[in-house]
Amino acid sequence: MAMAAATLGLGSCKTKALVNGGQQAETKDDFKWIVDTFDDIKVLQYKVPGFDQLTLQQKTLIYYLNQAALCGRDILFDQNFKYNLPIRRTLEAVYVNYGGDKGTEEWAAFEKYLKKVWFANGIHHHYSNDKFTPEFSEAYFDTLIAAIPADKLPLDFGTAEELLAVVKPAIFDPSLYKTRLNQATGADLLQTSAMNYYEGVTQAEAEKFYSDMAAMHKGDPSPISYGLNSKLVKEAGEAMPLDEYGNVWVQDFDVIYEKVWKVGGMYSAAIEKIVYWLYKAQAVAEQPQKDIIGKLIEYYQTGDLRTFDAFNILWVQDTESVVDFVNGFTENYGDPIGYKASWESLINFKDMAASQRTELISANAQWFEDNAPIQDKYKKEAVKGVSAKVITAAIIGGDCYPATPIGINLPNADWIRRDWGSKSVTIQNFTEAYAESAKGNGFLEEFMLREDDRKRVTLYGSLGDNLHTDLHECLGHGSGQLAPGTKGDELKQYGSVLEEVRADLFALYYLADQKMIDLGIISDADVYKAEYANYIMNGMMTQLARVELGKNIEQAHMRNRQIIAKLAYEMGRGENVIEMPKVDGETFIVINDFEKLRNIFGQMLREIQRIKSEGDFKAGEKIVETYGVKVDFALHKEILERYAKLNIQPYNGFVNPVYETVMEGDRIVDVIYRYPESYVGQMLQYSSEYSFLPSKN
Ligand SMILES: [Zn+2]
Repeated sequence: MAMAAATLGLGSCKTKALVNGGQQAETKDDFKWIVDTFDDIKVLQYKVPGFDQLTLQQKTLIYYLNQAALCGRDILFDQNFKYNLPIRRTLEAVYVNYGGDKGTEEWAAFEKYLKKVWFANGIHHHYSNDKFTPEFSEAYFDTLIAAIPADKLPLDFGTAEELLAVVKPAIFDPSLYKTRLNQATGADLLQTSAMNYYEGVTQAEAEKFYSDMAAMHKGDPSPISYGLNSKLVKEAGEAMPLDEYGNVWVQDFDVIYEKVWKVGGMYSAAIEKIVYWLYKAQAVAEQPQKDIIGKLIEYYQTGDLRTFDAFNILWVQDTESVVDFVNGFTENYGDPIGYKASWESLINFKDMAASQRTELISANAQWFEDNAPIQDKYKKEAVKGVSAKVITAAIIGGDCYPATPIGINLPNADWIRRDWGSKSVTIQNFTEAYAESAKGNGFLEEFMLREDDRKRVTLYGSLGDNLHTDLHECLGHGSGQLAPGTKGDELKQYGSVLEEVRADLFALYYLADQKMIDLGIISDADVYKAEYANYIMNGMMTQLARVELGKNIEQAHMRNRQIIAKLAYEMGRGENVIEMPKVDGETFIVINDFEKLRNIFGQMLREIQRIKSEGDFKAGEKIVETYGVKVDFALHKEILERYAKLNIQPYNGFVNPVYETVMEGDRIVDVIYRYPESYVGQMLQYSSEYSFLPSKN
């Protein structure tokens, strides 16, 4: 991620889908992939192929874990911004209870705003982090509020006046809480970010708090992830009570302390529910999962980060269980200084057929390492713990919902990754949904010039994307080693983006390798050509559809893709490897020599690996700042105009299936799932059935 400060897990990442609207694959049925569209968002639903073939025990386990996954939704809303819960509840109270005219433009704008708040888990855009601008007036909002019974508003915040005194400025005053996550160096990143991981502390105070904590454990080979599961607050100390002589010791002092997220701590009401369902899951789980879930429960009960590490070590070793899960405070992308983790959950089961593909790749990890185009001294002698599988997602929650990653690589603690390895997944039913829902949207015709490329992408685009994710996650991040004396944090704020560049280059380079054909993973060189064409077009042009005109690129994965595309273009210029022709005033990009482009990727990988291995900050900074940040204004404008014409929403997310138990007496005899009626319906259902936190936490 593009973070201004060091992050806890440089090796970890969440791979996001490219902006290409997916590929246009043939579909045989008339499944409704797109459930709702509004603003820049498209809400899809995903199939859960293979669920019916699971055993009753596995289905029951998924059912309980699915309940646990839904219980943490409020936590994320509160983490994103401290007034998100009272705001959401106020908006929902209006939405459900307003009896006036719903055919007006202002009502439509109000509804759109609420849909966006649901999607972003708060009032800031999930991707750009900017606060939403309501398209309805404050006066209109007043009439809505006046039209509903006051007792429908969230009453646990204070009086209606107190509530609205907070909610209205947060929604309508553009100068307040402008961004959830400020990453522009220079300002105090905590004071200028609306996220709710800190209260009353400056960036310097927070950094000192955690560097002092780390200093106390200096030399610890297995350090805990400091600050991961708590909010850091500064409060005025209380006056001491009378001492035994009757003196009052009044002192003017501040205390900085952590409010830990655990049973009995902050967010307890939601965490207790999560734990309740985890106990149920544990009861039906088989070993080693019984112990793994038990450790997670213990962690939620104690808040002890050593227990969290113990849980992760057990979890990462379990590569056999068909059903697997993520549930907890996991990724630190939402904290400008990278300590605090947002709550998320993903329940999944192994896609047996597709996992053969990643198992083959993993089984040959050493071959890939030995043959990488990097200097021998930076190759790992023994590649460790590369475990990868293709999964089918069954439910997503917290920070994985509704916008979701398509690949995950966990755990994040560097020393656990080093000593125990990591688990990496590609979520195939999501990529399928992206591809299917993009069918016939006109994207390829608009942006891809050559018929050849379009054909290849139509045939192999999805497979190429999936393989790219497999190679990136299974091998890319785990490859290479540091030079003696390099600590790993030398690249500072450029570390995470360069790590993504490295993993992507590894994937791009090997996708075109004869080894992939020899292993039987791909049958045709057209697969890599499809991916190359897609990747370069996306990195150079079409991903700009996600950036507001006039702005720089902030998001780490987007910076990474632009760096690779632009640098490849530069390096191949002499031989015209990549060309940007103009046809009728429209810009296109074509690859003239796929072989040479592959060589360029190899040379780039060699250099990026050298930069990482040697901790060459200057070289890393130069690459990111030269190729990753700035945007060509004229091209950007053109892309936005052409994209707008297509009427495609650049962001996707999902509604979840709804799981239900079939009972015989008090015995579960089956678990079935159905698709929700609508996006709005699911959001309202979650808000009424899975909302456990007070409006003030
Ligand atoms: Zn990555």
